[in-house]
Amino acid sequence: MRIEALKARNTFPRLEIIRVGNKNDDLCYERSLQKHCRELGISVETTVLEASSCTDKLPAAVRRVNQDDCIHGCLVFRPLPDETLDSEVCRLLHPEKDVDGMTYASLAGVFAGIDMGYPPCTAESCIEILDRHGISLQGKKVTVVGRSLVIGKPVAAMLQNRNATVTMCHSKTKDLVQECRCADILVVAIGKAEAIGESFFSPGQIVVDVGINVDKTGVTRGDVDYNAASAIVEAITPVPGGVGSVTTAILCRHIVAAAERTLEGKL
Ligand code: NAP
Repeated sequence: MRIEALKARNTFPRLEIIRVGNKNDDLCYERSLQKHCRELGISVETTVLEASSCTDKLPAAVRRVNQDDCIHGCLVFRPLPDETLDSEVCRLLHPEKDVDGMTYASLAGVFAGIDMGYPPCTAESCIEILDRHGISLQGKKVTVVGRSLVIGKPVAAMLQNRNATVTMCHSKTKDLVQECRCADILVVAIGKAEAIGESFFSPGQIVVDVGINVDKTGVTRGDVDYNAASAIVEAITPVPGGVGSVTTAILCRHIVAAAERTLEGKL
């Protein structure tokens, strides 16, 4: 409906993907995004760069995106070959086109609780899942395991903005089991297949498993031992089919919102 309304006013929502190299994971994600976007009527173009020449070409590609009014959202696949380049892109991409919340401006928006850029889609997906299931956050004890800028830190900030009491855990946390057991809601984003097992849970908990770990046989597992958790907790998101699926839907929503903002800016 929103997309049709945009098209009726000559605004055709468009995502630009910038990919360095041909990593299998990136290609898989790109195909899945193309499918979802096509179904909704969002067009997707990809710029592919060689790792050997991306130091100059990647910033140039981001500048081109910033200047092109027909591109509403941009997704730069990470990790990039080096941290300096990653940091440069995080400063360079215009926050209005930063539909996956990678820029420092978008992150500042999340941490300040203000409308600037877009939150990282995966972090927003965790909140959306809790909201959609009517799980109130106010006053709840939430433990977030993992402190990356992509997931752990922004999701913790978003939970605090919603009046949850948040404990952040990481690889140096002393008693991770106890920090997890005492939570009402547990959000896990560590990138270690099924590392969070039986001893980490207590009855009545809600568990959001962000992890996506593909083993040698191609099977995808979460960071949480799903079978152990589901025997104890009240509810848990599955992997695959949980946070990841919602993340794609949120990215599409951000692209549409970015196109709407462009149109509003033109009027
Ligand atoms: P990351 O950058 O590698 O960060 C991992 C974090 O987990 C770090 O803060 C690390 O602590 C912490 N950690 C690692 N092992 C730990 C352990 N044994 N106990 C406690 N903390 C531990 O990973 P990420 O990019 O945040 O991704 C996390 C997971 O989410 C991955 O499985 C990734 O594939 C998945 N993911 C899912 C989606 C989705 O849409 N569902 C999207 C993106 C990523 P230190 O800071 O101390 O090192």
